[in-house]
Amino acid sequence: MKYYSTNHNVPEATLQEAVVKGLASDRGLFMPERIERMPAGFFEDIDKMSFHEIAVCVARCFFGEDVERDALEDIVRDTLSFPTPVVEVESGIYSLELFHGPTLAFKDVGARFMARLLRYFINRGSDRRMVHVLVATSGDTGSAVANGFLGVDGIKVHVLYPKGKVSPIQECQFATLGDNITAIEVDGTFDDCQRLVKSAFMDEELNNRLLLTSANSINVARFLPQSFYYFNAYAALKSKGVGNDVVVCVPSGNFGNLTAGLIAHRMGLPVKRFVAANNANDIFYNYLSTGVYSPRPSTPTIANAMDVGDPSNFARILDLYGANHADVVSLISGAAYSDDEIADTIKECYERTGYLLDPHGACAYRALREQLNPGETGVFLETAHPAKFRDTVSSITGRDVEIPPRLAAFMNGEKMSVAMDKEFKYFKQYLEQLL
Ligand SMILES: *Cc1c(COP(=O)(O)O)cnc(C)c1O
Repeated sequence: MKYYSTNHNVPEATLQEAVVKGLASDRGLFMPERIERMPAGFFEDIDKMSFHEIAVCVARCFFGEDVERDALEDIVRDTLSFPTPVVEVESGIYSLELFHGPTLAFKDVGARFMARLLRYFINRGSDRRMVHVLVATSGDTGSAVANGFLGVDGIKVHVLYPKGKVSPIQECQFATLGDNITAIEVDGTFDDCQRLVKSAFMDEELNNRLLLTSANSINVARFLPQSFYYFNAYAALKSKGVGNDVVVCVPSGNFGNLTAGLIAHRMGLPVKRFVAANNANDIFYNYLSTGVYSPRPSTPTIANAMDVGDPSNFARILDLYGANHADVVSLISGAAYSDDEIADTIKECYERTGYLLDPHGACAYRALREQLNPGETGVFLETAHPAKFRDTVSSITGRDVEIPPRLAAFMNGEKMSVAMDKEFKYFKQYLEQLL
């Protein structure tokens, strides 16, 4: 399968090229040249299939031409080493819990898949050099990528993060791992970290000597596998007898998760419509209301993984619907909530139902409560475990949030970060000594 750029100014790439490059050289995002519809029989039997079986069928549509059958099955099984259950919160509203992975957030799925696909390409290729993954993080991306790649042969990961600007829970999830993961604590801001990574990718001398790659969320190997759990959620609803008139609500920042759902829909997944829930960063919400896309600097909120002022995957959504605003709004509606509204929602839902939302899932839950019609079944993506936002959630509900054992295990680890000045020459020196 070939992958084209949403800007259409470069030749199509192979899967391997798209995965290693991340972004097309015309700055567009890669899209698969074909999105195949699953046969009707697949949806008839889907509630009798396991998550692995469902995911393997979906994975074959994208990667079946480029990855051998057995290898692809192994990659899928190894990626999905944890469940993504659908839990009833109240009558007609279900939570698709995506926080049962190693870092308790949905990004584990894409990061684990990408790491394993990259290892497959390394083992198959003739270039046996070590691959160095560079990732700048303001918190959550670093932990998902680091844990996704942890222990994967032939790959070293370097996580750059701003000193004193990530929470201790976040820091311990990538700075205590050791093995093939190095955490680099930059004396600067998140923007400085991003600049260092970008400078490294642009430095010809470094790139001639080292095989550098990024693992950001726009990578096709992170984004496409997120469609797996949409199919599995439908299977779960169907087996509960509520698979008709399904409305899916996605808490959105960069819109990778929603776009994966739209791809599943294009493959025939029987979802009636989608709702995109935003925090105060309501750029997409405004686009839906006005047809005008006006990116702007992001605003900090308590649902901080959705603090995005210019969502990258907007280009993919436009591409899927030929930039036709009417088509987009006929399938997707929007919502946007202030921090106060998010906090009220967490408190209200907890007191009434006993279900503890995290600030991101809370946006999506509220949007469903407000927009679901009688007879419809709503499912929202619960993208992170509330314990990842323990202080916020505890102060809102007045209840101390329990830390799950796998998160507690990180917190007992020893921090092993490398300190780094924010000037590029020091980062370059660090990379050169890796040879
Ligand atoms: C990354 C993230 C989001 C936003 O997902 P996108 O794919 O960027 O829209 C939502 N919730 C949590 C917890 C996240 O980590």
